[in-house]
Order: sequence, then C-alpha cells, then structure tokens
Amino acid sequence: HAKESGRNTYRFFNEQMNIDALEQLQMQGQLRNAIRNGELVLHYQPQIDIGRSGITGFEALVRWRHPEAGMIPPAKFIPLAERSGLIIQIGEWVLNEACRQAKAWLDSGRPLVMAVNLSALQFRRGNLLETVASALERSGLPARYLELELTESILLHDIEAAMQTLHALKAMGVKLSIDDFGTGYSSLSYLKRLAVDKLKIDQSFVRDLTEDPEDAAIVKAIIQLGHTLQLSIIAEGVETDAQLAFLRNYGCDEVQGYFFSRPLPAEEASGLLAKDFL
Ligand code: C2E
Ligand code: MG
Ligand code: MG
Ligand code: MG
Repeated sequence: HAKESGRNTYRFFNEQMNIDALEQLQMQGQLRNAIRNGELVLHYQPQIDIGRSGITGFEALVRWRHPEAGMIPPAKFIPLAERSGLIIQIGEWVLNEACRQAKAWLDSGRPLVMAVNLSALQFRRGNLLETVASALERSGLPARYLELELTESILLHDIEAAMQTLHALKAMGVKLSIDDFGTGYSSLSYLKRLAVDKLKIDQSFVRDLTEDPEDAAIVKAIIQLGHTLQLSIIAEGVETDAQLAFLRNYGCDEVQGYFFSRPLPAEEASGLLAKDFL
C-alpha cells in the first residue's frame, strides 16, 4: 500500500508544472510540516583533494523523507520552497544540522569542511549573517569548517548588497564557493571582487569532457582563470576515470561525483573516511 500511494505522490510531485493552486498550497503545507516533523534529512557527498588523495570535506544535500512518497530529491521541492519563502526556514534548518554534523566529525578527530548550499532568496530575505553566526555558535563549529555554496544568481538583483553580505561572511571566517560555475550570468569582472575561495565547475561541462572538445576547452579555461585569481577549483559530477584523469592533468584541485560516492546519510558517509579514494 505504501509503495502504491508512494508512486502516486511521486507522480504528484513530478507533475509540479501542471498541479493547480490548491495542490500547490497542500504541498506547501506538507513542506511546512516537514520541517516540524523532522522529515527533512541531509545526505553528504565527499569532496576529494586530487593531490592529497583524501576527503577534505562533504557537501550537505537536503532530501525530504515524505511519509508516503519516500525520499524526494531537492529539485522537486526547493523551487516551491523558494517561491513560498519556506526556503528561509529550510535553509536555517540545513545550516544548523550541517554544522552539528561537522562538529561531530571534528570531535571524532575528523576536521572536514562542510559545504552548505544557499538559495539566492536567503541573501535577500531572512537574516543570513545572524543565521550563520547562530548555527556556528549553537554547534560550536569553528567558522573555517563551514563553506557556503552560492550561485551567480545572488548577483542578479542588488550586486552591491550581495557583495557586502559576502564580505561580511568572509570576515566571520567562513569559506565561500560559487556553485554551478559557468552557467550563470555574472560578469567576470565581478569575480575578483567577490571574496570567494573556490569555483565549482558545473557538472554540465564535466559530463562530456572527454568527448566534447568545447567542454574540454571550457573546463581548462575555468581552471586557468580560477588559479590566476588564486581560487581553488572543484569539479562536480565526476563519474569516470577518464574525467578524473583529465581534471588531474589540468590541475583541478578537488573532485566530487558518483565516481567516488553518491551523497550518503551521515553514518554511511562516516564509513567513507577510512577509505582510499584515488
Ligand atoms: P548542487 O548544489 O549543484 O549539487 C549537486 C547535485 O549533483 C546533487 O544533486 C548531487 O547529488 C548531484 N551529483 C553529485 N555527483 C553527481 C554525479 O557524478 N553525477 C550526477 N549526474 N549528479 C551528481 P541533488 O542532491 O539532487 O541536489 C540538486 C540541487 O538541489 C543542488 O545542486 C542544489 O542546487 C539544490 N540543493 C540541495 N540541497 C540544498 C539545500 O540544502 N539548500 C538549497 N538552497 N539548495 C539545495
Ligand atoms: Mg552545491
Ligand atoms: Mg552544482
Ligand atoms: Mg545546482
């Protein structure tokens, strides 16, 4: 029975584009309760340093463990959460939980950087600086173990305000990276003013890296540009040995992808820490 209704609910979430306002509202209500009912969970995907052949950190990725539909991926509810403003509360929960887990790893002798995705709305609404400071304080995690993943879309609205927020976060000691780099609209001239530490090469460029000369050229250019600006480069969506060899050859600093591990619950992610990766 659970499986059957799970499939229906899954269809319901799949056809998000066609559902009417009432259903939207219903799903929004369910999502609001999801936070309170503890239905949100974080999975962690390792980030591997190519040179040191080891895990340097994890990216926290949220999932919704729906009582009937099962595990719902973020692509199915983050857009609604952004439209409804619920992303502010979800983002706060994610930050607190990710910092708590990073501190647990730190306390067990594993100093790992925890990367947390931030929605553009968290920049414009909500009190991001306070939320981040409070997550660090409540968990006891030193700021240098937290990395915030931003997208270029934070620059679309009020660039000066976004810059100010980034510099304030930087001053707190947290690390900053640009997610899905190369897919947005940001001008390269902003890159040097952004105070970020790392660029994440979008997985759409990594996918056909070894067959498509244009993707290969883009990836090489991002690595070169980033390094010239003293930024660290991580490639996401690495699935094959050949992609890894290319990235290693062109000096990419870190890699992340199914080739190493899918995002996993904390306990299984802990199990990866003993493993040799490269
Ligand atoms: P993202 O931050 O760019 O995360 C990378 C996505 O690629 C993740 O999907 C990850 O599971 C997937 N991925 C990792 N390695 C591979 C690979 O080798 N091949 C392929 N095909 N995919 C890979 P996921 O977990 O479904 O998350 C999707 C997006 O949802 C994320 O993209 C991010 O934009 C958003 N998201 C996830 N968690 C949060 C969150 O806590 N807050 C916010 N605001 N957004 C989140
Ligand atoms: Mg990310
Ligand atoms: Mg990405
Ligand atoms: Mg993304």
